[in-house]
Amino acid sequence: MINIVNLKFKEEAGARGTRFLGRNGYYKCHGVSVSFENHAEIVSIEPFTSKGTIGRCGIEIPAEAIKAVVCALMSFAPDSPVEICAECGESVKWGSGRFVNRVPIADDLIEEKVDSGRPYPHGDFVCHECDSIRDSES
Ligand SMILES: [Zn+2]
Repeated sequence: MINIVNLKFKEEAGARGTRFLGRNGYYKCHGVSVSFENHAEIVSIEPFTSKGTIGRCGIEIPAEAIKAVVCALMSFAPDSPVEICAECGESVKWGSGRFVNRVPIADDLIEEKVDSGRPYPHGDFVCHECDSIRDSES
């Protein structure tokens, strides 16, 4: 079974517009088609041309690498959370060793984080170690 999600970009997305490299050079990229083949456990990403057709290029990502690729993409999103611990200031990004058990506090306003005495109030997470210390103190 193949599942497909088609994503269209806004007109002139990105600072210079988005492109893909096909066999005859660069073309305007108006979106991507993301498909998943269950039996192969592979995700394929292919570009949409300005004519709304699939461009003749693509990339395949193995299922076990999907989370790492998504985390890398999310780190570039304009409204992505600041991936540091609000208590110790250490990174809680994917690959930091503190990603899996981090606790999100992104919903708190920065003023609330300052008022509650967090040393790194711009951080949107608490790492597992700091969360354990905070729990034992309260
Ligand atoms: Zn911490």
